[in-house]
Amino acid sequence: MISFYPGPSRVHDEIPAYVKEAHQRGILSMNHRSKEFMEICGDTIALLKKKLNIPANYAVMFTTSATECWEIITQSLIQNNSTHIYNGAFGEKWYQYTKRLNARAQKVQFNPEEVLSAAYLNFNHSDVICLTQNETSNGTQVGNAIIAAIKKNNPHSLIAVDATSSMGGVELNFRDADVWFASVQKCFGLPAGLAIMICSPKAIERMQAIGEKNHYNSLSFIKEMIDKNQTVCTPNVLGIYLLMRVLKKSSSIKEIHKKTNLRAKTWYELFHKHTQFQLLIKNKNARSNTVICLAGDPSQIRAMKQNAKRAGFLLGEGYGALKETTFRIANFPALKDEEVKKLIAFFRKKK
Ligand SMILES: *Cc1c(COP(=O)(O)O)cnc(C)c1O
Repeated sequence: MISFYPGPSRVHDEIPAYVKEAHQRGILSMNHRSKEFMEICGDTIALLKKKLNIPANYAVMFTTSATECWEIITQSLIQNNSTHIYNGAFGEKWYQYTKRLNARAQKVQFNPEEVLSAAYLNFNHSDVICLTQNETSNGTQVGNAIIAAIKKNNPHSLIAVDATSSMGGVELNFRDADVWFASVQKCFGLPAGLAIMICSPKAIERMQAIGEKNHYNSLSFIKEMIDKNQTVCTPNVLGIYLLMRVLKKSSSIKEIHKKTNLRAKTWYELFHKHTQFQLLIKNKNARSNTVICLAGDPSQIRAMKQNAKRAGFLLGEGYGALKETTFRIANFPALKDEEVKKLIAFFRKKK
């Protein structure tokens, strides 16, 4: 079965071999305070910075999930309020999680067909402006230029970006925001249970000024430990090791980005002309390059998914309110050209 689910998603073919290797090398029972772990931790961070083009002065840290990052941002970086700009279920969830801890969280919803017009987005009174770069539920994305403009318009605020279903698959301009995070079970093609959180010097300064230290995962503790290539509690050592092994072999993000965009173009052209299923998002400038969301008649979608399963493809269910009326196709780097070709052929036949 080839998984085109947009998370947890197809893992890289090498993962079983790397797990075996990790066992042989004693990684599975490695002490997380050991020199050996600290080396793996440091190497993984160096590789992330190199392969993804993360500025040298940004801090890279490990957490367990994107959801945990939502809470870390709330507890450690929001003193007064936050503004959540979103158009779908994941942005909404982030807003809800924040609101439970801080009632002053504000929401600004926009239409999924709309390309954000940054000039009108001024929330300089907000401690943190929260953006979902790639909305996995409806297949939309917020472009790098818009994130940059939002930062420019709001010099007092920190810009925090959920890039869970795009980091590792498309090029992101890390300098244009202060906090970035992603879990690894999407574009990184790794098993779930690990996430990456990236902070600008400005975010670290803000963290220090606030000085929140009430939680095991307070950002100040995470930062203090990662400066020594360590983690607050026993981390997902295997996950970090697998990330390191995969990154070592991966191309630069520029190359990956090109390939992702080419494939996205192929998917969009195919469904632009498809008779049975339509692209959920009509505005091509709003569409995601990593998650393709298709709309159709619920009974036709159900039947097609069954056929797909029989043909060896696992497709992504619709998410949240779109569960019955849409399905999703991951356009993630771990998928191989021949797998993509096979699924394209499957949909061509169904036309
Ligand atoms: C999958 C996803 C999450 C949740 O990730 P977890 O690792 O399960 O916490 C959050 N945001 C976006 C945009 C996602 O796609």
